[in-house]
Amino acid sequence: MSDREGKTSTEHADTPLMRQYRKIKEKNPGAILLFRMGDFYETFEEDAVTASNVLGITLTKRANGQAMDVPLAGFPHHALDTYLPKLVHAGYRVAICEQLEDPKHATKIVKRGVVEVVTPGVSYRDQLLEPKQAKYLACVAWGDDRRAGLAFVEASTGEFHVAEVPDTELEGLLRTIGPAELLADKRSRPRIQSLDTRGTVVTFVEEWAFGFDFAYETLIRHFGTHSLKGFGLESFGPGIVAAGVTLHYLSETQRGALPQLDRLRRFDSNAFMVLDPQTQRNLELTASIQEGRRDGSLLHILDETLTPMGGRLLRTWLIRPLRNVERINERLDGVEELRNSRRTRDSLRDELRQVGDLERIVTKVCLDRAGPRDVVNLKLSLCQIPALKSVLAGATSRILSETAADLKLCREVVDRIGAALSDDPPASLSQGGVIRPGYDADLDDLRGLASSGREWVATLQAQEAKRTGIPSLKVGYNKVFGYYLEITNAHKSKVPEDYIRKQTLVNAERYITPALKESEEKILTADEKIAQLEAELFSRLIMIVAEDASDLLENARDLATLDVIAGLAEVADRDRCVRPEVHDGLELEIVDGRHPVVEASLAAGEPFIPNSVRLDPADEQILVITGPNMAGKSVVLRQTGLIVLLAQIGCFVPAASARIGLVDKIFTRVGASDNLASGESTFLVEMNETASILNNASPRSLILFDEVGRGTSTFDGISIAWSILEYLHENEQVAARTLFATHYHELNMLADRLPRIRNARIQVQEHDGKVIFLRKLISGAADHSYGIEVARMAGLPAVVIQRAREIMKGLEHEKLVSGAGRADGAPGKGSDLRPALDRVPKPDFTQTVIDQSETYTKLAAELAAVDPNRMTPLEALMKLAQLKALASEVGKH
Ligand code: ATP
Repeated sequence: MSDREGKTSTEHADTPLMRQYRKIKEKNPGAILLFRMGDFYETFEEDAVTASNVLGITLTKRANGQAMDVPLAGFPHHALDTYLPKLVHAGYRVAICEQLEDPKHATKIVKRGVVEVVTPGVSYRDQLLEPKQAKYLACVAWGDDRRAGLAFVEASTGEFHVAEVPDTELEGLLRTIGPAELLADKRSRPRIQSLDTRGTVVTFVEEWAFGFDFAYETLIRHFGTHSLKGFGLESFGPGIVAAGVTLHYLSETQRGALPQLDRLRRFDSNAFMVLDPQTQRNLELTASIQEGRRDGSLLHILDETLTPMGGRLLRTWLIRPLRNVERINERLDGVEELRNSRRTRDSLRDELRQVGDLERIVTKVCLDRAGPRDVVNLKLSLCQIPALKSVLAGATSRILSETAADLKLCREVVDRIGAALSDDPPASLSQGGVIRPGYDADLDDLRGLASSGREWVATLQAQEAKRTGIPSLKVGYNKVFGYYLEITNAHKSKVPEDYIRKQTLVNAERYITPALKESEEKILTADEKIAQLEAELFSRLIMIVAEDASDLLENARDLATLDVIAGLAEVADRDRCVRPEVHDGLELEIVDGRHPVVEASLAAGEPFIPNSVRLDPADEQILVITGPNMAGKSVVLRQTGLIVLLAQIGCFVPAASARIGLVDKIFTRVGASDNLASGESTFLVEMNETASILNNASPRSLILFDEVGRGTSTFDGISIAWSILEYLHENEQVAARTLFATHYHELNMLADRLPRIRNARIQVQEHDGKVIFLRKLISGAADHSYGIEVARMAGLPAVVIQRAREIMKGLEHEKLVSGAGRADGAPGKGSDLRPALDRVPKPDFTQTVIDQSETYTKLAAELAAVDPNRMTPLEALMKLAQLKALASEVGKH
C-alpha cells in the first residue's frame, strides 16, 4: 500500500494538519493548493471539488477531527506532470506545496511550504510549454491621460518588454501579443470587460501593487540600477506600473530571484505592422481557420527552423512584420546570401541541428531547475559555436556576419561542464552517476569504497555456499532489512551458528552476519555520501554556469536569428521564391504571385495558377474582383496579403517579382462567421469588422475585402458595398490600397465613375454548359457567378438544380426588361425581383413524388408477400437483392 494511508494516517486525524493547510491556503489566494502528503498531492474543500471536476478524479471526504467532513481529492505525486497541465490549461493558478523536511525526522507535523505557483502565463515546466511557441504573461495599467501601459514577459526565456500606447490602441496591441495570462488592477474590471480578451486568462491583482512608486522601486531593485533612464523609460507612466506589477507577480509565483530577466526593452508598436486578430486568423498565419491547427497555416509552410528558439523567433517575426525598409533589407540580405550559397547554408544548418533549447535551459539553470541532461545539452549546444563561427567567417551580409561575430564561445562553461558531468548522465540527479570519474577526488574515494564493499558482498555468496555446503544459498538486498543471506527450509539444519535470523518466509529464512552488516554499513554510508556530494558538486557547477547567463542568453538569441534566416533561405530555395523589393513608396506590384499554402496543398500534377496584382493609390487604388464561385477570388486576396507580409518580415516571396510599397496595417474582412457565443449575428460581426477597418485604415494600409455586404439582403448589401468603396476612394485619410472581391456585378460600374477603381475578373471557360475554372485574373468585369453550376458540382438534387435554372431564367428576363431603370448602376425600384418571381411558373414536383410513392408501394407489397418460414436461405438472399434494387430506385429521384 502506498504512503498515502500509512504516512498520513496520524496527520489525517489531526486538526493541526488542517490548520497548517488553511494557513498556507490563505497565503495563496486564488490558487488551487496541491498539498503534498506523503506520496500524494491532496486538495481540500472547494479546491477538491474543482480538481475532481477538471481532472476527473474521485471526490471523497475525510473527517478532520471535528464534526464536519472535508471534501478531498488527490492524486499520486508522480502523476503531477499529467494533472498539472490540465488544471493550468483550464485557466487555474496552481500552488504546489511540498513537504520541506523528511517525515522521518519530523517531530511534530511535517513542515510544508509552497515552492512554486504555476499559472496560465508562468511556467518553466516542459509539459506546460510548447517548444516553438512563446507563452506570455502580460499586465495592463491605465494612466490618467487616456494612455495605457502594457508589459509582457516570457518567463521561460527572459524576454521582457513594455509599451505605452493611447488606450484606443491597447486592444490591437494585446491581440498582437496574445498573452496566455493578463494581469490587471481589481478596480479596472469594467475596462477589462470591454476588451476582447478571448484566449487569455485575466488575473486581477490587488490595487496596491499598481502604485507607481512601488512599481518603480521593484524594477530598479531587480535591475540593480538607480533609475530607469538606461532603459529609455523615464517618460513612461502606466508602462512602468505594468512592468513593475509583472515583475512582482513573477517573483511571487517563483518565490525567488529572476536572474533570467536581464533586461527590459521598450516595445515600439509603431515599428511593426498592425495585424488585427481577424486578419491573423483570416490569413491563417499561425493556425488554420478550419481546424485551428498549425498544419495548413503559413507558419507551418515557413518553419524550417531547427532549434526551438528559432521556431519561437520565426513565429514572432511572422506576427510582427517590420515597417522599416532598412531593417527588412538587412534580413533579406541574409536570406539572399544563404539562399545563394547552398554549401554555407547546409553546413550552418548541420551545426544548428545539434543545438538544443539554449534559451530555456539557461533560464532553468538560473532558477536552479536544470537537470543533468539539460546541462549536458547546454554544453553540446555551445560546442557548435566555433564551427558556426567558422562557417560564417566569410559572410558578407550584415545580419550574418555581425550575429556570428557576436556569438560567444563560453569556453570556460563548456570546459567546466565537460570536466564535471558524464557524457550521458541520467535524467535526474538522484539516480547517481552524474559526476564524471576523476572530477573530484573525494567522490572517487567514496565510489571506490562503495564498489569494493559491493564486490565483497558479491564474493560472499560463493564463499558461504562453500563453507556451509548449501549450494542454493543466496545473498540478497531489500530496503527494510538491507543485505541478508537466504537459506531454504530444506537446508535449515546446516545453518552455521554465527548466522543471526532476521526474517522468516514461507520456504526460507533470512540471516545476517556481523561482517555482512559491517560491509553494508560501509556501502550505504558511502552511497549516501556519494549522493550528497554529487548534489553539491552539481549545484556548484550550476552556480558557475549561471554566472554566464547573460552571455548564454545572448548566444541563444543570436542562434535563433541565424536559425530563422537559414530556414527562410531554405524555404526560398525550396519554393522558388524571389527577393521582393520593399520601398517607402505606395506602389504594390506582384507579378505571378502564388499562395504558398494553397500551392502546397494542391494534389500532385495540379498546377497553381499564378496571378499578378498591381495597386497604386495614384491610379489603381482599388481593384474590384468578380468571377464565379470557386474561381479563386479569395485566394488572390489572401496571397496578396501574405506576399506583403512575407516581404516585410524579410522573407523571399512566392512570385516572379514583387515591388512592395511599405504597408503599415493589413486588414481583412473575409467570409462570414457567426459569433453567437457573444450574441452577435453573422451580419453584425461582418459590419463590426468593416467599421473597425474604415476607422483605422490609413493610406499606407492594405485592405482585403471579401464579399462585404453578403450577409444581408441584396439591396442593402450592394448599397453598403458601393458606399464603402466610394468612401475609401474619396476620403484621403483612409485611401488604402484595396482588393474587393464580390458577387455584386453591379459594383463594376464604379470603375466608370471613379478614376482609381479598376475591375478585374477571374477567367472561366464554358464548355458544353459546364464551367472550367482557369483561375486567371484578367482585367474587366465578370457577368456571371455560375453559382448554380457550382451547386450542381456539389451534388444538390437534380430537381433543385433544374428548378433554380428556371427561376434564374425568369429573373434574367426581368433584368433585360427593366435594366434601363438602373442604367446608373444604383439598385433602384426597377430591380425589385418580386414581379419576376411572381411570373416564374409554379414548380412541378408531382411527377417525382408519384414516382417515389409508387416505388414505396411496390416495395411494401413485395415485402408483405414474403414468407420467411417458407424460404430457403438462397431464396431469401435473392429476394433481399431484388428488394435492394427496388429501394435504390428511390434514391435516383
Ligand atoms: P467563392 O466566390 O465561392 O467564395 P472564390 O472565387 O473565392 O469562391 P477561392 O476560395 O478563392 O474561390 O478558390 C476556390 C478553390 O480553388 C481553392 O480552394 C483552391 O483549391 C482553388 N484555387 C484557387 N485559386 C487557384 C489558383 N490560382 N491555382 C490553382 N488552384 C486555385
